[in-house]
Amino acid sequence: MFQEYNTPAFEEKYTYTGDDLGCSWAKDGTRFRLWAPTAADASVCLYKSGMEGTDDLIQVISMSTDVCGTWTAYAEGDRNGIYYTYRVTVDGKEVESIDPYAVSAGVNGRRGMILDLRSTDPQGWAEDCTPVRSRRYTDDVIYELHVRDLSSDKSAGIAARGKFLGLTEDGTCTKSGHPTGLDHICRLGVTHVHLLPFYDYGSVDEAHPEKSYNWGYDPENYNLPEGSYATDPYDGAVRVRELKQTVLALHRHGLGVVMDVVFNHVYHVYDFSVNKLVPGYFSRQDASGKLSSASCCGNDTASERSMVRKFIVDSVNFWADEYHLDGFRFDIVGLIDVQTIQEVIATVRKKHPHIIFYGEGWDMHTQPTKPGVPLAVQHNGYMIPEMGFFNEFIRDTLRGPIFDRHLPGYVSGAPVDRAQLLKCFRGVAGWNQSPSQAVNYVSCHDDLALHDRIAQAMPGVGEDEIARRCRFAAAFNLLSIGVPFFQAGEEMLRSKKKRDGKFDPNSYRSPDSVNSIKWSRLDDPEVQKTLHYYQGLIALRREHALFRISDAAEAERCITLVENTAPQLTAFRLEDGKETILALFNPCTDSLPFTLPQGSWKVCVMDEGADPQGLEERSDDIQIPPISALVAIAPKAE
Ligand code: CA
Repeated sequence: MFQEYNTPAFEEKYTYTGDDLGCSWAKDGTRFRLWAPTAADASVCLYKSGMEGTDDLIQVISMSTDVCGTWTAYAEGDRNGIYYTYRVTVDGKEVESIDPYAVSAGVNGRRGMILDLRSTDPQGWAEDCTPVRSRRYTDDVIYELHVRDLSSDKSAGIAARGKFLGLTEDGTCTKSGHPTGLDHICRLGVTHVHLLPFYDYGSVDEAHPEKSYNWGYDPENYNLPEGSYATDPYDGAVRVRELKQTVLALHRHGLGVVMDVVFNHVYHVYDFSVNKLVPGYFSRQDASGKLSSASCCGNDTASERSMVRKFIVDSVNFWADEYHLDGFRFDIVGLIDVQTIQEVIATVRKKHPHIIFYGEGWDMHTQPTKPGVPLAVQHNGYMIPEMGFFNEFIRDTLRGPIFDRHLPGYVSGAPVDRAQLLKCFRGVAGWNQSPSQAVNYVSCHDDLALHDRIAQAMPGVGEDEIARRCRFAAAFNLLSIGVPFFQAGEEMLRSKKKRDGKFDPNSYRSPDSVNSIKWSRLDDPEVQKTLHYYQGLIALRREHALFRISDAAEAERCITLVENTAPQLTAFRLEDGKETILALFNPCTDSLPFTLPQGSWKVCVMDEGADPQGLEERSDDIQIPPISALVAIAPKAE
C-alpha cells in the first residue's frame, strides 16, 4: 500500500484539487467531501455531542464515490452545532475518525463539529484588519509566547488564567501596580506576538487542563483550535470564537499574531485522522514500511505526496483567511519539501501580502518517499526567499554552543573574533540570501532561558552581573541586522528553575510553576532596569532604518568595522549617507576607552540605559562601561 502511494499512477488518479474538502455548512443543508481513495465504503455519522463514547448517534448518512478518490454526502436542514465523524471500511476493517478538515470539535478533538463559522465571529470581526504595515521582515520585532505562560501565575492579575482570553485583558497589573499581560507586551514595542502551538494538540486533557502542561508540539487536529485554551472545551463554537476575540484584541492593540504550526509530524501516527482514513498516507515510510523519524517524534510527514501537500497548503490558507493571522512559524520546516512551502507562501501572500513565514531550517536527514525532493532546509533557502530561518550562528556566537550548555559565548566571556561578530551584526548566517531570512535570537522556548544559560556557563557569578550580561546580549541581538526575535520574559530576566533548584533545559511538559511568567519579578529593580533597556533598544531599532536593512549587499556596504580601537572593543559604523551610527560592544569586566569622531554625538545606549531620544550628548573621549553596549548617533548634516 505505502509503495502504491508513491507511484505516479496513484497520484494522477487520486489528486483532488477542489476547495471543498471537509464539511460545508449552509442553512438548508451541509455538504461533506472526504478524500479516501482506498476505502471500500464510507459514511458520515452525526452525533448530538462532541464527546467520544457518548451514545447519542443521530444519523448515519452513507457517502457516494465521487471524483479523484473522494466521497460526498449531504445532510439536509440546518445542522449547525451537530458533531460528526467519518466511518470508512479500509483494508477490510471498519474505522471511525474525525474529519482531517474539521474546523472545530468536541472535547479532546475526537468528533468534528458542523459549524456556521460566521456565527463565531466576534463583534467587529468583519472590520478587523491587520495592524502590520510593513512588508519587510526586518521591520518586525517578534515576541515568542505560550498562551498559558502569560497568565497562569497569579501575579499576572489576569482573570482568564491560562486561556486565550487571558491575552485580551487590558489594564491588568501586579499587586504593586506594574502592568502585566497584554499591557506589558504593548509597552515593549514589539510588532508581532508569536504564539506557541494553538491548533488542537493531544498532550493535555482538555477536560482537566490543570493536571498537565505542554508546549503543544503534538498535533492532533490541524484545522481547529486547542480546547484547553477555551473557557468551554466541550462546545466547539467556543474555542473558535475565543481565539478570534484574542486575535481581534491583539490587532486592536497594534500587534500582529504569528501561529506556530507543526506539520512535520503528528502526535500518534496511526491514530491521526488521515492515517486512519487512508492508512499511512500522511507519513514517510521506507520500502519495508518502516517510518522515517528524523523529527525524533516517531514519524515524519510525507509532504511530497500530493494530497498531504494540499492538506498543508489548505490548512495554512484556512488559518490565514478565517483567523486573520499575520504570520506562520514552521516547526522543523527542514522536514517539509520545498514545493509545499513555495505553494503555501505563494497562495497565502497573494491574498495577504503582509504575512510572514519563518521556521527551523535544520537539516534532519529525513527520507522523502520520492527521489530528489529538495527540502526546506537553510541551504535551500534561495528557492524560498520569503521563508526566514532561525539563525543559530548569532545564537551560538552570543550565548555559546547549543550542544554544550556549560560553555560560554561572547556575552559570557568567550573570546570571539571581530570578523565573526561583524558577520553576525550584518545578518550574515552563512546560508541566507538576505537579512530578511535571518531570525536572530538568543532565547526561545527550546533549551535554557538566556538568564539560565549565562548563569550555567559562569558559575559563581552574581545576579547583577548575569543581568548585565543579559542586557549586553539583548543589545547585540536587537540591534543586529535581521529579524529580531526573543522569548517572552527575556526582558524580565526570565528563569525556568525546577523544584530541585536546577535550571530546566527542556520545559516542554514541566509544570506551570516552571514555565509561567512570574510577574512579581517586576518588583525587582534589576528587572525594571532590564525591561526599560529592552523598550529603549526596540524603540531605537524601529526609529532608525540603518538597523533594519533588508538587503545583504546594502548591509555589507553600510556596516563596517571601526579600526584602531582598544583590542577587546568591537565597534561598528553604520552609515547610509543620511545618518551615521556607532554601535560599540565591550565584553570585558573593565571599562574601555573610545574616541568619538569630531562633533557632538547623541548617545542613545550607554551602560544600563537605552533611549532613542538620547541619554546625553558626548564628544571626544568616552569610556564604555564593563559588559555593555554604547550606541551614538552623529548629528545630521544640514
Ligand atoms: Ca487538544
